[in-house]
Amino acid sequence: MSDASALEPDTGLTPGKGTSHGLPVAVLLEVTHRCPLQCPYCSNPVELDRPKSELSTEEWVRVLHEMPDLGILQVHFSGGEPMARKDIVELVQAATDAGLYSNLITSGVTLTRERLEALADAGLSHVQISFQANDPVLANRVGGYKNGHAKKLEAAKWTREAGLPLTVNAVMHRQNLHELPDMIDMAVEMGAHRIEVANVQYYGWALKNRAALMPTMAQIEECNRVVEEAEERLKGILAIDYVVPDYYAVRPKTCMGGWGRQFFNISPAGRVLPCHAAESITGLEFDSVRDHALGWIWDHSPALNLYRGTDWMPEPCQSCDFKEEDFGGCRCQAFALTGDAANTDPACSFSPHHDAIFKTAETEAETGETRFIYRNLAGGTPEA
Ligand code: SF4
Ligand code: SF4
Repeated sequence: MSDASALEPDTGLTPGKGTSHGLPVAVLLEVTHRCPLQCPYCSNPVELDRPKSELSTEEWVRVLHEMPDLGILQVHFSGGEPMARKDIVELVQAATDAGLYSNLITSGVTLTRERLEALADAGLSHVQISFQANDPVLANRVGGYKNGHAKKLEAAKWTREAGLPLTVNAVMHRQNLHELPDMIDMAVEMGAHRIEVANVQYYGWALKNRAALMPTMAQIEECNRVVEEAEERLKGILAIDYVVPDYYAVRPKTCMGGWGRQFFNISPAGRVLPCHAAESITGLEFDSVRDHALGWIWDHSPALNLYRGTDWMPEPCQSCDFKEEDFGGCRCQAFALTGDAANTDPACSFSPHHDAIFKTAETEAETGETRFIYRNLAGGTPEA
């Protein structure tokens, strides 16, 4: 097994400790970008990591064992589709051996009962399955995968039979928001503990597909009402996490709890990112676990340090009372919509760009565009 800590200069610092930015609590491991689905809102970058660049089993195991020293408690195995890794059971076992809580974030279409049981035996703590709709025809069209919905339902059933807690991830947009009440009922029927009602965030693939995905204001108002009613009715039965769409927001979300503050991602090729979309910001270079120990990267990565805390902030954030709450919102969205990642997130009504994005949302929601550009390694394929 290789040991990246041997590569480090002596900085006098204990990795992850005694520094101003604190300790990360959770990590998202994008163990591969391979995926049988082709969702038009996929949060992976448009430029996907090729399979041959992926970290090896040994490299992932080494990184997992570095995590407890950094204060990390939870790992989320994601992708792409994490089940595309032949060694996924071995990786979950390594997380268990390191004392980490582990969550499998999967499309569910390639899960089998046997592999799920092997994952449970390896100590997997939780499963999250994405659903594209309640209606199978719509769900299979959005995911670009024939018969995927039926396979997901089966995977959800096996998850509960294996005694594992289940979260339903429901990604919502203009073409499926009318199904939200049915998707909440579906989550209750399958015995899920939680549903994430996540309106699409527009970076990467979703930005390419924005005109086909952007909801109308009327849909968002109805979505707010449905969530509020369900939260009341399903107290103690189903927890609901709700992510509102930024383009219709007044204040920005506290993206990832602040850049490089509580979370990070590791890409399939080992680059450590403050969030899954950060590589959409051109000009930033992210350090790799192939070259450095994780603790060194957390403390010293120039890209992680760039937007940490509040010193980097421009006005109006710099003199704003909310700057320690939302840390200026999302850097990726600021870059995508204003061309400068250091700008105030335009989701904030104090941003000079805010009115323009609200108008963009209204205009794109009215385009009538329905055809998707499907996500794939070839850079996208328009729906037939
Ligand atoms: S969003 Fe869809 S295409 Fe992207 S990784 Fe998840 S299941 Fe695969
Ligand atoms: S101005 Fe900046 S700190 Fe203030 S609410 Fe808006 S994004 Fe947050």
